[in-house]
Amino acid sequence: MKIPSLPKLLKNKIYKTGQTRGADDDVIFQNRVNRNSTVLIPYPFFETCFQMLGKGMTFQNGFIVLITPEEYFEISGFQNDMAKKDLYLGKNALLFYYSRSQWTKYNPIERNLSPANNRNNPLGGEYVARVPATTAEGESKIHHGFSDSSLKGAGIRVYEYANSETIKATQLQLEYIFWQCFDAKTVMLQEGMQELDIATRKQYIEDECLQSFLSDKVKLQTSRILNTQGNAICPLCLEEISARGFFQKVAQAEGREVEDLTVTQLNLFHIKELRMGEYNHKPYNLAWGHHHCNIVVKDTGIEETLLWMYEVIERNKEQGFDFH
Ligand SMILES: [Zn+2]
Repeated sequence: MKIPSLPKLLKNKIYKTGQTRGADDDVIFQNRVNRNSTVLIPYPFFETCFQMLGKGMTFQNGFIVLITPEEYFEISGFQNDMAKKDLYLGKNALLFYYSRSQWTKYNPIERNLSPANNRNNPLGGEYVARVPATTAEGESKIHHGFSDSSLKGAGIRVYEYANSETIKATQLQLEYIFWQCFDAKTVMLQEGMQELDIATRKQYIEDECLQSFLSDKVKLQTSRILNTQGNAICPLCLEEISARGFFQKVAQAEGREVEDLTVTQLNLFHIKELRMGEYNHKPYNLAWGHHHCNIVVKDTGIEETLLWMYEVIERNKEQGFDFH
């Protein structure tokens, strides 16, 4: 049986959740690549990152450990410590220069080191540099390694990682959540899908999710993804979300219309935020939420954000500002 496809905009939106966030040119990270790409691990987190991955597990497209020049050149016995972990510059580790003072004090060129340009062993060099320009001294930026347009960025932030199976499961669950929008059917009809195709597709996704344990309603409710009526909600404000939001752009602030043109009203929302030492891009931790609510929560977490909001309201009341 052929499964009817989704409208392109929604299909792309779900697909893109398998990719990392955008990175600008001045950082070491790759821009919008699959979450199973080569990960960059800061040295102090090396062991935690592997432990959290699970026993016997590894990163599907490898890893590069980033070492600061201070760690490498100042800590006695550091290279022995690296060797014990089977880490070697140029093989699976790189020196990472990100400040002018590091560049001056531990200059890699004077030490006959080369910039790396390969994400797999051998990395083709021992260091990578992203030193910003200084306007005061008029010094230009230093971008060495992984800076060609075809090879921009050394890898992804390790906490954005998910393996291909997890990516697939999350995409399936995110579509399942979409179909739980109270007006999903109406909106899909408006977007040009045929009634029969809607029913077929929805049933197919629900069957797939049931088989893979991705549609546990209680779990989705306690995770703030669906409400007790089983409808899709925004994890912060708990308002039921409209499927329309997947097809509408956020009203642009005047003067910056161009900048965020691709931002729709509903975005991928991580219930537990992505942070170092955890892999939170996984089923039952992803929802669709308001663009604005997502921005408010940002990297703080939902609970902390709600506490802060409560305090803000209480303080306003104390000072005589009341809401009706
Ligand atoms: Zn919201």
